[in-house]
Amino acid sequence: MIVVRNTAELRRVLAEARGRGQSIGYVPTMGALHEGHLALVREARRRDDVVVASVFVNPLQFGPNEDFEAYPRDEQRDLALCEKAEADIAWLPSARELFPPGFEVTVAVPRLSAVLCGETRPTHFAGVTTEMTKILILLGPIAVYLGEKDFQQLVVMRAVVRDLGLPVEVRGVPTVREPDGLALSSRNAYLAEAERQDAAALFRILSELIARLRANAEPVAEVLAEGRQELTRAGLHRIDYLELVDSETLDPVRTATAGNRLVAAAWVGKTRLIDNMAV
Ligand code: AMP
Repeated sequence: MIVVRNTAELRRVLAEARGRGQSIGYVPTMGALHEGHLALVREARRRDDVVVASVFVNPLQFGPNEDFEAYPRDEQRDLALCEKAEADIAWLPSARELFPPGFEVTVAVPRLSAVLCGETRPTHFAGVTTEMTKILILLGPIAVYLGEKDFQQLVVMRAVVRDLGLPVEVRGVPTVREPDGLALSSRNAYLAEAERQDAAALFRILSELIARLRANAEPVAEVLAEGRQELTRAGLHRIDYLELVDSETLDPVRTATAGNRLVAAAWVGKTRLIDNMAV
C-alpha cells in the first residue's frame, strides 16, 4: 500500500493504472476506521483492480455546533487498517489543498438535502456534496463505494452523479453491525457504557417495526407513532425522525412496499445515532 497526500501524485498514480487498463474503486472515509469502513474497502477489492481509500475529516459537512474538533482521529491506526483490508492507495488529502483560501463553490441538491437529517443539519449535505463532487472530478472515472448506513448520503450522491453526468458508478454496501445490531459508527466511541446498552434499542425497535410494515396489516402512521413512543421509552430521549420513505425520492410513503426505507435518527445522551432498513 502506498500513502499519498498530494492530489497531483494521486492523479499520476491513477493515470498509470488506467493506462494499464485497470479499474479503480474509491472508498471515502473520515477515519476512525471500523469494520463498516473495511467492508467497503473489501467490496472495492473484490470488484476493482486498484483500491483507493481516503481518510479526511471534511470540515464542510460539520455544522457550527457539531463535533468537528472532537471527531476521533488516529492516522497510524487508520493506515494499518487500510493496509489490512488490502487497499492499494491510502489517500490523506489536506483541507488546504482541497479547500484553499477563497474556495467558494457549493454543489447543492436542495430538496433531497432538506429532509430527514437535513432538517436538523441544514448545511450538512451541501458540505458532503461539495467535497465529494470536487473529489470525484479530481479522481476521474471510478466506482465509489458508500455505506447504506448513511442512506440519505447515498441517495444524495446518486443524484449528484446522475444530474452532473459524472463518470462514476455509485455502489451501496450493506450496513455492518455489532452482534446486538447496533450499526458500527465512528461516533459510537462517544457512548458511555449505559448509553451503549440503550443504543442497541434502535436496531431492535427498527427490526420490530420493519416486520410489522412488511406484514402490511396496520396503517403506516400508527406503526411509526408507536415506534416513536417505544424509542423514547427505551432511552432514546430525542427523536429527530422516524419515517418510512421512498428509497429514491425520500418522500414519506403511506403504504409500505418492497424497497421503501425505514429511516431513523435519535439521540442517546449527547450522541446522535442514525440507522435504516429496507422494507
Ligand atoms: P464516515 O467515515 O462515517 O464518513 O463513513 C465513510 C463511509 O463508510 C460512508 O460511506 C459510510 O456510509 C460508510 N459506513 C459507515 N459506517 C458503516 C457501517 N456500519 N456499515 C457500512 N458502511 C458504513
